[in-house]
Amino acid sequence: MNERKIEIRENEPLAPLTTFEVGGPARYCVRIVCEEDAAAALSFAGEKGCETLILGGGSNVLISDEGFPGLVLLNRITGITVEESGGSVLVTAGGGENWQEFVDLCVARGWQGLECLAGIPGTVGASPIQNIGAYGQEASQAIAEVRCLEIATGEAVTFDAEECSFRYRESIFNTRHAGRYLVTSVTFRLLPGGAPVVKYRELAERLAGISLPTPADVRDAVIAIRAGKGVLVRTGFESFRSAGSFFKNPVLPRARFAEIEALLSEAGKAENWAWPLPGGDVKVSAAYLIQSAGFARGHYRGNVGISPHHTLILINRGGATAREIVEFAGEVRQRVLDRFGVALLPEARMIGFASPPFGCDREE
Ligand SMILES: Cc1cc2nc3c(=O)[nH]c(=O)nc-3n(C[C@H](O)[C@H](O)[C@H](O)COP(=O)(O)OP(=O)(O)OC[C@H]3O[C@@H](n4cnc5c(N)ncnc54)[C@H](O)[C@@H]3O)c2cc1C
Repeated sequence: MNERKIEIRENEPLAPLTTFEVGGPARYCVRIVCEEDAAAALSFAGEKGCETLILGGGSNVLISDEGFPGLVLLNRITGITVEESGGSVLVTAGGGENWQEFVDLCVARGWQGLECLAGIPGTVGASPIQNIGAYGQEASQAIAEVRCLEIATGEAVTFDAEECSFRYRESIFNTRHAGRYLVTSVTFRLLPGGAPVVKYRELAERLAGISLPTPADVRDAVIAIRAGKGVLVRTGFESFRSAGSFFKNPVLPRARFAEIEALLSEAGKAENWAWPLPGGDVKVSAAYLIQSAGFARGHYRGNVGISPHHTLILINRGGATAREIVEFAGEVRQRVLDRFGVALLPEARMIGFASPPFGCDREE
């Protein structure tokens, strides 16, 4: 029997809770600050027989104009604990902790493992969902464990990194178990005094003057690069209403990649637009395909456009509806499909749509 009192609000506007600033209301909405709150909220959803949606920072979602017909749980579970383990530290953070502040804290303590992921908006609890990544690093490389509540039963379950089946922008939480769990905390294994990862060319160039960069040097360089691209949702920096990269970078079989490369070479080959993967496939830049299909940075129609700094970022220029964004994104996607035969898939989660846009195999 759960004794905690939670405040369920009705018809709560969701647009202000997202970085796109788009979307209709939630039928019900509740702010949860501990697992007991979450359990109480889940039993409320069970009683009402309504769907649930977990929202962290709302930085990777596009919510429909109709909104969400069920219960939205705003994850605000905080708290950080640290345990020494051999030469490393195990740092456990509540799922509602702010990701940027969490990375800054780890870097300030000299713990290596998350420095390239500085400046990504959102919450700790969302980091395993799409295995966030940037500048040659992915959250999965540091994640030791993910603690969850199963939404249907309210039971606690912990997954180790292997059980999460992490891949590029993928885990069990956005594939076979999508919508099944609420992540309440994540444990990261970090290395005190460890040498940071500097794989990404732009990052290496920026750090060229430093012989042995520290995690703090890398973090600062990442923040500077992100600031230049308008992808820092942080006070004092220019940013746009968006969900970050709207589409994923497609992963293509080598033969298909070679065909596209041949097509592109007609127009002069780009540098740094494709990255070979260990199994032989090639990850290619969706931004480059979009550009080559005729969409330049800053291109816009009405209230929706492409960021002036980054082709992969679709922006709400003010007053956009979800429908306008879906139509604009659909046009971009179609032109890439016509030109290169590649069907881009959205990275942002589509929520509350009657039929999932862009041939998504599922929606939340
Ligand atoms: C300007 C900008 C730049 C970005 N840059 C990057 C980048 O470099 N790399 C990158 O990988 N991403 C990037 N993103 C995307 C986004 O920041 C990340 O995906 C982030 O992890 C989303 O966190 P959130 O808390 O905002 O999740 P939300 O947007 O609230 O939710 C995203 C999805 O995760 C689910 N979810 C969230 N929290 C939980 C939880 N606790 N338990 C279960 N499910 C949950 C939601 O239901 C939803 O499906 C960027 C976004 C923006 C706006």
